Amino acid sequence: MDAEKLEQFRQLLQEEMKALLSEADKTVQEMGDDASHFPDPTDRATQESDRTFELRIRDRERKLANKVREALERIDDGSYGICEDCGGEISEARLKARPVTTQCIDCKIEAEEKEKRL
Ligand SMILES: [Zn+2]
Repeated sequence: MDAEKLEQFRQLLQEEMKALLSEADKTVQEMGDDASHFPDPTDRATQESDRTFELRIRDRERKLANKVREALERIDDGSYGICEDCGGEISEARLKARPVTTQCIDCKIEAEEKEKRL
């Protein structure tokens, strides 16, 4: 995949990460404000963002955020867009629809078929 396209996917993934983090913020607000445990505002900001990410974000979002983070790492290490099962290229259309995917459509279908047979 060329660098320009990789940048597009990086932006897509970063947008998704932002959306997840703003969801996480909402969760934090819903869970009540115990940020007063950290009276120093700088301290509080740091603590709050760590805790938001590590502890408070809802499970589904945390899993997705991890996938997004892994996808961003794959962009950095050059393995993005390559199927982890067959080593083939994942189609751009598929990546656009699901930028965190690690399988090409053929392997995905095969995996789903296998699951059905079990
Ligand atoms: Zn594959």
